[in-house]
Amino acid sequence: MIGQAKAAAMGRRDAPLPPRVDVAIIGGGIMGLSTAYHLARSTKLRIAVLEREYLVSGASGRNGGGLRMQWGDAGNVALMMESIEMCRGLAQELGINLWFRQGGYLFLARSEAGEARLVRNEQLHRELGAPTRLLTGAEALEIVPQLDVSEVRLCAFNPDDGVVFPWPFVWGYAGQAVARGVTVRTHTGVERIEVLADGLRLHLSTGERLDADRALNATGAWSIELNRSLGIHLPNHPHRHEIMSSEPLKPFLDPLVVDLSTGLYFSQSTRGEVVAGITMEDDGPTPTEVDLGSSRRFLSVLGQALVHIMPVTARLRVLRQWAGPYDVSPDGDAIVGPSPGVPRLYQVCGFTGHGFMMAPAVGKIVAELLATGKRHPMLERWDPARFGRGDSTRREDMIIG
Ligand SMILES: Cc1cc2nc3c(=O)[nH]c(=O)nc-3n(C[C@H](O)[C@H](O)[C@H](O)COP(=O)(O)OP(=O)(O)OC[C@H]3O[C@@H](n4cnc5c(N)ncnc54)[C@H](O)[C@@H]3O)c2cc1C
Repeated sequence: MIGQAKAAAMGRRDAPLPPRVDVAIIGGGIMGLSTAYHLARSTKLRIAVLEREYLVSGASGRNGGGLRMQWGDAGNVALMMESIEMCRGLAQELGINLWFRQGGYLFLARSEAGEARLVRNEQLHRELGAPTRLLTGAEALEIVPQLDVSEVRLCAFNPDDGVVFPWPFVWGYAGQAVARGVTVRTHTGVERIEVLADGLRLHLSTGERLDADRALNATGAWSIELNRSLGIHLPNHPHRHEIMSSEPLKPFLDPLVVDLSTGLYFSQSTRGEVVAGITMEDDGPTPTEVDLGSSRRFLSVLGQALVHIMPVTARLRVLRQWAGPYDVSPDGDAIVGPSPGVPRLYQVCGFTGHGFMMAPAVGKIVAELLATGKRHPMLERWDPARFGRGDSTRREDMIIG
């Protein structure tokens, strides 16, 4: 339990706002807060984070907490190797228990195409120094004895991948940002942004105004509405992703397991709950609004896929289910950098189902960009202007969910 004083030190609804800041960060999710922390660590800039609700109300408080190096694209593998390395010392750095557990990720391929993906990835990972290894189904049983591997053609296991408990991760960044002078204001939405000659004027839901030299749109799946109000049209869209957790069980499952054929993933949290989700298409046309509703169909689809690969879970009792917003980018790459037409407003969005794991490295990259203009190589492909130029390319085929 976090006491009132400690909670207040991580951001408050009544935190006094200065009339002007150098950087206003809109959205108090993991992206906004990781950036605020890194920026405050490396500069003396005046920074404010504005969060419309409470700190873990968005995707950052609703996700599965999975972190992996096992990607299909070299840029993402390298980024995640850096992010996981940062996570090793992060609990001490942030002064909070992140419940970071490196039990590995175990990918199962049941199709020829899936098998080919794992073979190709393992070679790439070896070249980059990531410790992924290929296993037969029988070898995978040494890691998860309860699996039904009768249809499994090949597996890939990386022992350095793992899971965290998302909430303290968010709170940790917030606490350390506040300790370094950042104003973290909760329950305060940015309703409108006015472009001034020398900056941006943010009109807030409290009736206040905040002027900023530059601002960062870190509102995840809600970024679309804020962008639209400024005439910025980016092609990301919200997607409702559902997830569930079971009653707590004695620890029995070390890795997070992914079945490539269905997009099913499941892990056991440090608290003993089995946490599971699965790829499901949008119900109708591409959504434009965030929808956080839960469905029975999800439980049915997930239950069948889970019991198929892990028959012992037929007796598992569901404790709760919920949904969170994916912020889907059409080419699978994030959208990070100055906005087309409004260069003082930077974007850090479009992270689909993997923004949490990337946030430690991304926060540092974005902070460097804002502080010094230094451009990490990933910023080339994440450039928000790429869609307007028609040069967006899909490089990644390991996006789950
Ligand atoms: C069910 C689920 C499972 C997932 N599993 C994983 C996983 O295992 N690993 C992983 O890496 N990623 C996972 N993800 C993805 C990950 O959660 C997101 O990519 C990441 O949290 C995005 O962080 P964010 O800070 O960009 O957005 P958010 O956390 O959504 O934060 C945006 C914030 O902006 C606020 N906001 C919105 N509009 C305004 C406004 N106008 N003014 C002020 N504030 C505003 C919102 O209230 C919100 O708090 C999962 C996502 C879901 C939904």
